[in-house]
Amino acid sequence: MGRNYDAVIVGAGPAGSSAAILLAQAGWHIAVVEKHAFPRRKVCGECISASNLPLLHDMGIGEQVLKLAGPPLQKVALMARNERIVADLPALGKGTFKWGVALGREYFDSLLLQRARQCGAEVFQPQAVRAVEGEPGGFQCEVEDMESSESFYLSAPVIIDAHGSWERSLTEEDSHERARGPADLFAFKANFSHTSLEPGVLPVLSFPGGYGGMVMADHGTATLAFCMRRDRLARCRREMPDVKAAEAAFAHVMKHCRGVRDALTGADLCGGWLAVGPLRPGIRLNDSLQPTFRIGNAAGEAHPIIGEGMSMAIQAAWLLAKEIGPFRAACAHGPSQRELRQHFHDKWKQAFAPRIRFAALFAHMAMRPQWFGGILPLLKQHPDWLTQAALWSGKARCAPLEHEFSTRLNDVKAA
Ligand SMILES: Cc1cc2nc3c(=O)[nH]c(=O)nc-3n(C[C@H](O)[C@H](O)[C@H](O)COP(=O)(O)OP(=O)(O)OC[C@H]3O[C@@H](n4cnc5c(N)ncnc54)[C@H](O)[C@@H]3O)c2cc1C
Repeated sequence: MGRNYDAVIVGAGPAGSSAAILLAQAGWHIAVVEKHAFPRRKVCGECISASNLPLLHDMGIGEQVLKLAGPPLQKVALMARNERIVADLPALGKGTFKWGVALGREYFDSLLLQRARQCGAEVFQPQAVRAVEGEPGGFQCEVEDMESSESFYLSAPVIIDAHGSWERSLTEEDSHERARGPADLFAFKANFSHTSLEPGVLPVLSFPGGYGGMVMADHGTATLAFCMRRDRLARCRREMPDVKAAEAAFAHVMKHCRGVRDALTGADLCGGWLAVGPLRPGIRLNDSLQPTFRIGNAAGEAHPIIGEGMSMAIQAAWLLAKEIGPFRAACAHGPSQRELRQHFHDKWKQAFAPRIRFAALFAHMAMRPQWFGGILPLLKQHPDWLTQAALWSGKARCAPLEHEFSTRLNDVKAA
């Protein structure tokens, strides 16, 4: 037998650390296992939507995030071919947290995890959960220390899978696994200094075979993150056989998107390129196969074009804490836990499935600028459609907590 907790959380991304903070605040004895040492950079567009700021404030890191992050994001721009269409981003109410911001994941994830520690969660890092055995009410995790390779065990009645989507699932064959295909997406990210990117504008990029985003984040650096289909990436590599995949992909984006050329020509790359893939956006919940609670990308992933993955991760953690936080004792009882899990996963689908579907539609259009060609003149006349699209993506709404959220927003405004 190993050490005992009320819950073991696998992964300390935005989903895992937020769940750790909220459940520890609700009196749970929590272990968080994270396989990477922090701080670490991560492939991500790094935009934190306004809808998360009241939640981050409640978790106790709102002010630190705003202090470190880049300028408030008040505009969205669509950049396709030589076009640049700018529109207002929707504001969140009228209070302190009207606008989203961007912050490097090396800062954001560290702040969240540090807060989880302060709230009493025990953090195992750099350590990886290698296997989960047992069933609701009595699980055992085998954990490997990444430095010594030694293994030990943690026991808990509840396991929360927050390990993201770019790793293999621990508890079952991921139903999302499938053979390599030309439509698989690979994602790249880099930071640049000395850019001419306008602060406060969030450009969404459309180019053949992919899409992406740019933003001014912390310390005056810009983040460029984009996704490209496997078949298009292979073509780029054939055209530029002597350079690395990320550089060939970047050259393709620069060639097909004037907005990126204008912003980044002459800029300095800071810290090198990061790459990850294949990404397989979609919903991964399957209650008959999965004995654990799932949040963040482990539950489901939206195409990154809407830049809402972290929001969905944080908001899912919030929803989970609301659903199970008061029922620590019931969770120790297998059948009660199964019922709570089914209920939580149903609520998760209600809250996030529409955003995942909307993101897929938008992403498939953006990867085909020839389709956008027909729409661009209309969008130029109606830039407010972009504002509406940002609203649908969830930029100014916290879907799972609509009611409490507005109450909280008012509390925060009054404070
Ligand atoms: C190109 C691109 C751009 C994006 N842009 C944005 C954006 O602008 N805004 C936004 O909100 N979202 C964006 N996203 C999405 C966002 O990055 C993810 O949705 C988000 O990171 C999901 O959070 P998570 O906590 O579920 O998972 P993750 O952030 O992936 O965290 C999972 C953690 O679990 C750890 N882990 C995995 N397996 C184990 C194990 N066995 N044991 C221990 N630890 C483990 C990992 O090391 C990791 O730290 C973007 C994604 C991409 C690809």
